[in-house]
Amino acid sequence: MDESEGSDFELAEGEEEDVAEESEHESLPDEIRQDFDISEPRSHSYLFNEDTVEVINIDFLPDDKSHTLRYIRIEQVIVPGERLPLSPRCPFSMQNLQKIIESKQLVILLSNTRAAEYDPHHNAHVMQLPCIAVVAKITKHQIENGPHAFGMKRVSAELCAIHRCKVFSMDFANRKCGFTILPEYLRPSVMSLTLPNYALSWSPAKKAALCSSLINYPMCAIYDLAEKHCEILIKHLSPWFGEKSLRNILSMGKVPFGFWVAANFMLNTDQKYELLSEDSTDVRLAQLAEHVRKVNRVACTNCGIILFKTADIIRMSCDGIGGNYVNPGGVVHNLVTVSQVDNFQYRGPSSTEFCWFPGYRWKIIMCARCDDHLGWEYSSDHLKPRRFFGMTFGSLKPIPDLTEED
Ligand SMILES: [Zn+2]
Repeated sequence: MDESEGSDFELAEGEEEDVAEESEHESLPDEIRQDFDISEPRSHSYLFNEDTVEVINIDFLPDDKSHTLRYIRIEQVIVPGERLPLSPRCPFSMQNLQKIIESKQLVILLSNTRAAEYDPHHNAHVMQLPCIAVVAKITKHQIENGPHAFGMKRVSAELCAIHRCKVFSMDFANRKCGFTILPEYLRPSVMSLTLPNYALSWSPAKKAALCSSLINYPMCAIYDLAEKHCEILIKHLSPWFGEKSLRNILSMGKVPFGFWVAANFMLNTDQKYELLSEDSTDVRLAQLAEHVRKVNRVACTNCGIILFKTADIIRMSCDGIGGNYVNPGGVVHNLVTVSQVDNFQYRGPSSTEFCWFPGYRWKIIMCARCDDHLGWEYSSDHLKPRRFFGMTFGSLKPIPDLTEED
């Protein structure tokens, strides 16, 4: 894994001065520090020059049954609604992204976690087909003129996943794949189908008792489980996102709410792929409620040492508790932001170059026990919080607390 946040080359000499200055900045009182603006979405301002960025609005697919589009292979699993910044370094990927931007078409994001054996003929890992992927649209892009690596133009884009899809064929030579859009099932609640209008204002228990007597169905099967699971998610996620903003997201529907939680909670790629493969929103919400309710500590995935408590997770943008960020080497990191971390050690000097959080300087952190890369410490001399951590999902293992009950 590329460990450097902002740089895939050696840091300039003299950056170590930042380290010496740190203690001085730490002593600045909180009153004169400015709050880091967490009401803004992730802008990826390190990637785009906002004056030259062009936004393409394409949001449709022809309504025949199967489609063919260009694909991009990515290391993560992305769910609908989730955004992904890209700035590839490999010439083939740069050329592919440029062609996608110029075609003004949608694109398929194929997760490499589903890749099977290596195919030397195509110099790539073959995908296990069929596989589940997402259709994405380009929300921002920028093609910079001037000589870059391999004499090519530098291409950066931000994509947003919009639909789940099933990929059934791949054309490696043209980087295109055949796919169908997957359906989304949400079971209507028994109560909403059977409750007479005059009982709409009754208490949930009284409504359930009436429905149960009307259709001769047990009380436990009358309650709307999707509703219950949404309430569990709101209860457990409110400390991080605020109840009001969670209810706002839920007001857009249970389907986008479920995907929003899947994009914003700490899930590993297997858990996320399982949620993406699920056609039923009811089942997806139940699985999410199970994940969110059980986890209370997070460990190093390599050696198992405890790194932080989920109570220490903080939000550094209005989008959520982390997100996807790309470094100058083209490597995308999926981060969760945390106020404090135990059992880590620093690696290398600190830097402000290509920083994902404007106004902060970053420093690489490694596991104190196994020396695996964990993420970055961010510190600032004028912003609040004065210090926080961006931890990469790949290095984290959520630890469930089996004693906790709802
Ligand atoms: Zn470790």
